[in-house]
This record gives sequence, C-alpha cells and structure tokens, in this order.
Amino acid sequence: MKARRRIVPVFVPHLGCPNDCVFCNQRTISGSSLPAGAAEVRRALEKAETVTDQAELAFYGGSFTAIPTEEQRSLLAAAKPWRDKGFLRSVRVSTRPDAVDEERLRFLRKYGVETVELGAQSMDDRVLALSGRGHGPEATEKAADLVHGEEMQLILQMMTGLPGASPASDLATARELIALKPEGVRIYPTVILRGTALERAWRAGRYRAHTVYDAVETCAPIADAFLRVGIPILRLGLNPTEDLSAGEAVGGAYHPSLGELVYSRLYLDRARAAIRALPRLPREVTLLVAQGAVSKMTGQHRSNLLVLEGEFGLRKIRVKEGAFPAQTVAIEGFL
Ligand code: SF4
Repeated sequence: MKARRRIVPVFVPHLGCPNDCVFCNQRTISGSSLPAGAAEVRRALEKAETVTDQAELAFYGGSFTAIPTEEQRSLLAAAKPWRDKGFLRSVRVSTRPDAVDEERLRFLRKYGVETVELGAQSMDDRVLALSGRGHGPEATEKAADLVHGEEMQLILQMMTGLPGASPASDLATARELIALKPEGVRIYPTVILRGTALERAWRAGRYRAHTVYDAVETCAPIADAFLRVGIPILRLGLNPTEDLSAGEAVGGAYHPSLGELVYSRLYLDRARAAIRALPRLPREVTLLVAQGAVSKMTGQHRSNLLVLEGEFGLRKIRVKEGAFPAQTVAIEGFL
C-alpha cells in the first residue's frame, strides 16, 4: 500500500537570493550545490508517485520569489501535469519577506502555490542588521499581511542566537511572530557553517557561538509560547544532513535531535510547574502525558526525572501516557 500525502522537497539553494546573510551557506544546508531546474521537479514528482498517492511540492532554500519570473514559471509549470491529475494537492515556496508583493503572490497562486514560508529570522532591527539580512521587521509584517490577504497559508521561520540576539530578544521575536497569526513556524537555532562570514566572526572572537545548551534554554520558552496559542512548530533545528554531520557545521547549535532536546526541556518545565502547584508535596508522583510523549518527559537517561527527584525530594516518579492533551503534564490524583 502506498503512503498517504507526503512533501516532495526541491531545493533551490541560493537561487534568486540577492543577499549574503552572515550565517548562510544554502548549499550546505540543503545538501545540494546545483540549482534545481524543471527536470529535477519532474524527476522528484515521478519518484514520489511510486511511493505515495498524494503529495505537496515544496521549493525550499534560496528566495523563490526573487528568481526571474521565467525561471519561477518553468519550475512551477513543470509540476502542472501532476496538479492536473490530482496527485499534487498543493505547492509551497520559501522566500525572503522583502521579495514579496501582491503581483508576485498572485502569480504564485495561478500556479497552485498555497503556502508561502517567510524567513523572518528575527524581528529585532539590530539583530537583522548584524546578520546582514538586508531588511527590517516591517518587511516581515507587510509580507505576512499580503500572504494572508491573498488567502494563502503563512509559515514563518525564525532563528535564535544570531549576532546581537539574546534569549529575551529571541522570545520577543516569537511573540511578534505570534501576532502575525502564522499557520505554522519553523525555529532554527544558529549553526555556524563552514565558509560563512559568521564562521570568520566566530574564529576572530567577534561572535559567541549559540551552543546546543543555549539553544535548548532559549527555545524551550519559545516553543512553549507558540504551542500555547496553538501554532504548530513544523521544525525545530536544521535537518541533519551528511555534510553537516561530517563537519560542515563547525560550531553552534547543531544536534541531530535538537527538537527532542527542546521538547524534553519543555516537559521538564511543565512538570516543575505542575508539581509546584500541588497543595502538598507527596513522596511519589505519577506524571500523566499525551500518547507518545513518555520519552520527552523522561529525558535522555532519565535526566528530567533525576532533576525533579532532586529538586522536590521525591522518592519515586512514574510517567504514564494516555488520552491527555499534547504538551501538557498533569499529576495523577490531582487532575
Ligand atoms: S536570504 Fe536566505 S538564501 Fe539569501 S543569503 Fe539570506 S538566508 Fe541565504
């Protein structure tokens, strides 16, 4: 039996991007060094047809709407036969906020694009300037309005630990993104990639790396803020690739399971709050979590449970999964 709907990614590394953000080396992030063309789109869709019944085509990397219109048209038109026969349900593109206007969005809609991912990265003027982004926060606000105005889905991407950022400014960015009402977000803690301006700044001592520890501490409250208002987090941390794992990520917050570490920290904080709220401190507690969340609550090598036992002087902690709301932690007997 074929799998149901799946995302077919086509990477357009750096294609169309007029910029050189200090952290960016799109070739390393995507694992691809050749810009994709119409032939790659067709090949990807032909392959997808052999394993799934329905798909969504996603153009990631680069700045799609900054590519010359004829190239955009060629990439999008290559997918038309699959749209016509109903295999392709929708198309998404990612781009820079300042490469979006009504005309470009209408063009995308005509070719079946329903979702636009905007690389906001930060809503802090200074952080954006130090990162060489070439746009301010107002570009993201305006682009987000335009995307929603065209009744398209909006996904916002943010980074933590950029030059000039702090945990407080990153959390403030998350709050500003929440106000733009995206249908989803992606959070990318800064990774120092080989050959980037950020690597040079780091080696010269002008930038302090955003470590995995920093990323977990910074992202746990950010993830909490998005999830509390029901905004799905589609990705947390760069997708592990062979290049990144083989040394292209020279420093910063690269960890193949970063998301798991952040969610584990989030569960620790929520368990702490639940235990603190108890009218009296028992000697043993059973933490109730949603189906599939036991490992997040327990932490690697039971680290979360050891912390809680130590902090609250508990003799024993059990973790039980059940039909509880996602991301919540309750205490058995105190529901
Ligand atoms: S805008 Fe995007 S693709 Fe362009 S340099 Fe910056 S991060 Fe890279």
